[in-house]
Amino acid sequence: MADFDGLSESLNARKTQHLYRSRRLLGSAQQPEQQVDGKSVLSFCSNDYLGLANHPEVKKAFIEAASEYGVGSGASHLVNGHSQLHHELELKLAELTGRDRAVLFSTGFMANIGTISALVGRGDAVIQDKWNHASLIDAGLASGAKFKRYPHCDLNGLERQLNSCSEARRKLVVTDGVFSMDGDIAPLDRIADIADAHNACLMIDDAHGLGVLGATGAGSAELFNLSQERLPVLMGTLGKACGSFGAFVAGSEELVETLIQQARSYIYTTALPPAVAAASLASLKLIQTEAWRRDKLQILIAQLRGGIESIGFPLMRSETAIQPILVGDAALALDISQQLEQRGLLVTAIRPPTVPEGTSRLRITLSADHSSDQIELLLSALQDIYQQLSDEKKAQLSDVKDKFVSG
Ligand SMILES: *Cc1c(COP(=O)(O)O)cnc(C)c1O
Repeated sequence: MADFDGLSESLNARKTQHLYRSRRLLGSAQQPEQQVDGKSVLSFCSNDYLGLANHPEVKKAFIEAASEYGVGSGASHLVNGHSQLHHELELKLAELTGRDRAVLFSTGFMANIGTISALVGRGDAVIQDKWNHASLIDAGLASGAKFKRYPHCDLNGLERQLNSCSEARRKLVVTDGVFSMDGDIAPLDRIADIADAHNACLMIDDAHGLGVLGATGAGSAELFNLSQERLPVLMGTLGKACGSFGAFVAGSEELVETLIQQARSYIYTTALPPAVAAASLASLKLIQTEAWRRDKLQILIAQLRGGIESIGFPLMRSETAIQPILVGDAALALDISQQLEQRGLLVTAIRPPTVPEGTSRLRITLSADHSSDQIELLLSALQDIYQQLSDEKKAQLSDVKDKFVSG
């Protein structure tokens, strides 16, 4: 390492640019009131949107399965790690999403890497929204297919990119269902029309939609009523609203069998612990039977949005549990996040390279486990902080609002 030049310089550069990140120590379960670095805080930054990560039914399923199946799965799915519980979860996921079949992956990152590389390669093209999750972008680059990006949710841009690769053998259009740092929902019906008109296949990553959107919680595809014909590749994760861990891809028999035969991040890895699959099964049951969790989340979202808009902070347009305040400057985003933390409120500052330069934000996320009083606490802290900002900073925020979130 001694001669591996430049590491400490680039670390220092991150510090001076307010881009250095460090990890906190969580000393309790993932829930609104938690212990972080030894202190009690109220968290607004987890992806546990429905409050299932620490749910008694989910924990019970996990513990019971662990006592029967043990902890490690001991092998990959194609050797002898594919347990009865994995199999049941795949059947359940296919049923929930209205697809022929589903296949489990160990993580969402691995599902995206494995799926895109199994579906496209040299001579093909992959066309992605610029703000897609890092795992999709990396998957596109790693696939060897011609890689094209279009401006965020820009349908003309998508058409242009599709026209520019009309010679490709296969064309795969890929978008997040709900964008992870923005919270907005992709116009999937129109994207599906365009993909269809260009003889391209559509894939969505519904990490933030599954469980939260749609009448039964089946996610963005359900919201837009997109069948397997129109949306052939549906990827979702189980570590966010499901409160568990893992991911899956759902679609036709041919798609799923192709992934089982060819997705390297499926083949060459140990299967998830079966108890994790049991926990996911329990949480899917709650997602389907307890619609009140989605309804409550919507009520909290409306309360938060109304409050933030009246304070004056630039709030991004979002109907989902992800409600970012667009601050612009990385140092200011960090400063506000630290002021909130001093008041016992945890909201992460998201900075480049996760988001584009000049669009640093406070990413507030809500959970059905939050109470209306807890939302009020956050709003009153934000109001205090806003009032104490210098006029210059307020003007800066107002510029950001005009530039990015007007209308
Ligand atoms: C979190 C996330 C992933 C990665 O899923 P993991 O299971 O955490 O690896 C993929 N895509 C999107 C959009 C995500 O938000």
